[in-house]
Amino acid sequence: MLSGSRIVVKLWSIMNCPECGAIDNACESRFHEFLVKEFEGVGCGAVHHLTVAAYMLQHSSKLTREGWLHERELLREFLVEKKPPSFIRKQNRDLVDSGKRNFKIKSRDGLPVINKTTWTKTILDVRVENAEVYCEDVNAWARSALEDSEGMFLKDLR
Ligand SMILES: [Zn+2]
Repeated sequence: MLSGSRIVVKLWSIMNCPECGAIDNACESRFHEFLVKEFEGVGCGAVHHLTVAAYMLQHSSKLTREGWLHERELLREFLVEKKPPSFIRKQNRDLVDSGKRNFKIKSRDGLPVINKTTWTKTILDVRVENAEVYCEDVNAWARSALEDSEGMFLKDLR
């Protein structure tokens, strides 16, 4: 029985990401590729804050419950309130410095805090032909991740 369920878990992990649903678990290597691109590629760094927040939102095992809510709020501030990343970075730094942000962002147990596994878009939907297309698609992906997660009720949270 136990070995049987292990096989199922293993097969599932070969096929799709258990969190965002990306085929072949390709999301993580794509994420690292994108980070390099954003540091090196001309014009790609402009969406770095969106790439990180959207990826984290879709991979809640990397976060605490408070950390996940924090990432969602960040994404909302970027996309809906149109706050510039530099402003949010400063605000965040002030909160940490003043001791007002008293929660941990990084997960300690590595377990997902949401039980959502299907998303309208994943990081694999982002095209990379050129910087313009790239930025446009990262925006679209981040926006849809935010919309998907806004429809999530609190009961979905662990
Ligand atoms: Zn994934």
